[in-house]
Amino acid sequence: MTLRSFAKINLAIHLLGKRADGYHEIVTLMETVDLADEVEVSAREQGTAITCSDPAVPTDGRNLVHRAAGLVRERCGLGDRGVRIHIEKRIPVAAGLAGGSGNAAMTLHGLNALWSLGLGEADLADLAAELGSDVPFCLHGGVAVASGRGEKVAWLDAPGSRHYVLVCPPLEVASGWAYSQWKMELTKDASCINLISSVMQAGDADRLASCLHNDLEPAVRAAHPEIDGARGLLADAGLKGMLMSGSGPTVFGLVPGRAEAERIAHDLRGRVEPSWRVFAVSSSSRRDVAV
Ligand code: ATP
Repeated sequence: MTLRSFAKINLAIHLLGKRADGYHEIVTLMETVDLADEVEVSAREQGTAITCSDPAVPTDGRNLVHRAAGLVRERCGLGDRGVRIHIEKRIPVAAGLAGGSGNAAMTLHGLNALWSLGLGEADLADLAAELGSDVPFCLHGGVAVASGRGEKVAWLDAPGSRHYVLVCPPLEVASGWAYSQWKMELTKDASCINLISSVMQAGDADRLASCLHNDLEPAVRAAHPEIDGARGLLADAGLKGMLMSGSGPTVFGLVPGRAEAERIAHDLRGRVEPSWRVFAVSSSSRRDVAV
């Protein structure tokens, strides 16, 4: 069974404070886009065997899909029931696009079907929250506001499709470091999330550009000039709304239509080193993501 595992971008991230458990309390609005890995799940005698098309991704217990399989076995009392998982990677790694979280979410769906476990939405959401803050959102994708450490997800009905160009400079930003750089006094108030939610629900793509906000961006921008480099490329292409996704380094820009996104992405690929990755993407609906 092969499942598509979509990338997400954060259109807004607001940090509220640091929690006793070391995580930050956040509110974020996210959307899945049609840049996707493929996660292929099949039976084997015992144990977990992972392969990945990208040699930079670990295939041992550090891989989130390995942890997902272990958690499902443990919770469902399945001993060492075997699974083979192949990940065809297209989403840049450690890029703020939740590639690993999406792979883990699709592994939960895949194992539920492969092993006929009959896990419901709530069971899957509980397992997902144990694996990582973005995993519950990735179970279904679409557009949602996530709170807590990101695991409490409220889906939004956001009519229409949005189109973006993603520029991903060749560096990895560790999420933990990016969060540790945040200073409460520099943050905006949480109204940015209410505003962008209402703009998304109204399908008002024109107003979206002025609502984008990421509390993590200033520190990552200060430490890595590539973020401004990516922003500069999108600004030169005439884009007005742009933002770093998650803890970076991917920067996305809003484009009115898919054909224009493809054209801009093509032009930008001709202007950057091959190690910089550029994608034209569009909203992917919840229906696309579910098994
Ligand atoms: P997020 O936006 O959820 O913080 P990210 O997009 O910034 O995630 P990932 O691509 O998920 O980051 O990778 C973060 C780290 O997780 C990398 O250092 C990578 O080695 C490790 N990792 C573990 N499992 C996977 C996987 N299945 N795919 C990609 N990276 C993985």
